Amino acid sequence: MSEKTIIKADVVIIGAGPGGMTAALYASRSNLKTIIIEKGAPGGELLNTADVENYPGFTKISGPELADNFYQSAMAFGAEHVYGDVESVTVDGLYKMVDTGSKVYQAPVVIVATGAYNRKLGVPGEEQLSGQGVSFCAVCDGFFFRNRELVVIGGGDSAVEEGTYLTQFADKVTIIHRRDELRAQQILQDRAFANPKVDFLWDTVVESINGENAVESVTVRNVKTDAVSEFPAGGAFIYVGILPNSEIVADLNVTTPDGWIKTNDFMETEVPGLFAIGDVRLKHLRQVATAVGDGSIAGQRAYDYLQTLDPELLK
Ligand code: NAP
Repeated sequence: MSEKTIIKADVVIIGAGPGGMTAALYASRSNLKTIIIEKGAPGGELLNTADVENYPGFTKISGPELADNFYQSAMAFGAEHVYGDVESVTVDGLYKMVDTGSKVYQAPVVIVATGAYNRKLGVPGEEQLSGQGVSFCAVCDGFFFRNRELVVIGGGDSAVEEGTYLTQFADKVTIIHRRDELRAQQILQDRAFANPKVDFLWDTVVESINGENAVESVTVRNVKTDAVSEFPAGGAFIYVGILPNSEIVADLNVTTPDGWIKTNDFMETEVPGLFAIGDVRLKHLRQVATAVGDGSIAGQRAYDYLQTLDPELLK
């Protein structure tokens, strides 16, 4: 078996979303050797977001454009961006070892900025028809659904915002929600209610997604009456929440039972030198603005933490 290459840094950041890229900016600007590891394109969820209207400084900017701006800022002070799919983070004395399979990145500070992924509904047809009418990304796939009648499942910001976004392609969008009240921000609700192409099915859950090689309908059940019926649909977009990408630290005892990483106000976990920021962190508001706040705090705190370490022990 060949030895893995070990690459040393002061700070290793896992994930190049808004939080990770901000942490890279702050850490590298403090003259720390900073490596940011990402398995996809830099930008995180911004790459799946059409327009961002709630990031201060921009009344409206496309997600990918904002992601590119973040990337330019993150790289401006010497941070290094590498490709890597991190398999695990382990602790070895003062060091954390970030294993990407072929390479191991070793640093006294590791900042986990791995974000979250879409929760699945877990109903028949969801998996089988994924990519054949079942989608989790309106921005990526909306264009393929021109002139169709679509369903969107969920009642949070994502379902309501993306459902409204889809009306520029679709003839009609029906948002299916399990309660009779939305969770989404009021401004997103107001827009959806005012859009003649958006309809709602309240108190309703989806029991299956049906079709041979493409979505043709969903089987729905009214949770108040228990009545089951078939609802025609030329596509189903699922937005029923998010789950943390925290598998890589599962053995470090830093998460809640649901997998969200617990931190203090400095973004520090209970493992000294291990930080978590952005959507993967246990927090109340998951936004670009809060991820950026988390990233700046962690980037700065990383510097403070490193000053407390005995340089002899880091040799
Ligand atoms: P979310 O806020 O957790 O909402 C998930 C929705 O799915 C809820 O309405 C929930 O119903 C419903 N749901 C959950 N499990 C379900 C199931 N098994 N069957 C049917 N419905 C189910 O998730 P999100 O909308 O993806 O948003 C995630 C985070 O990103 C949030 O913090 C959100 O604020 C943020 N975000 C912000 C923006 C923005 O600021 N423009 C845009 C997108 C996302 P209940 O309401 O009954 O629980």
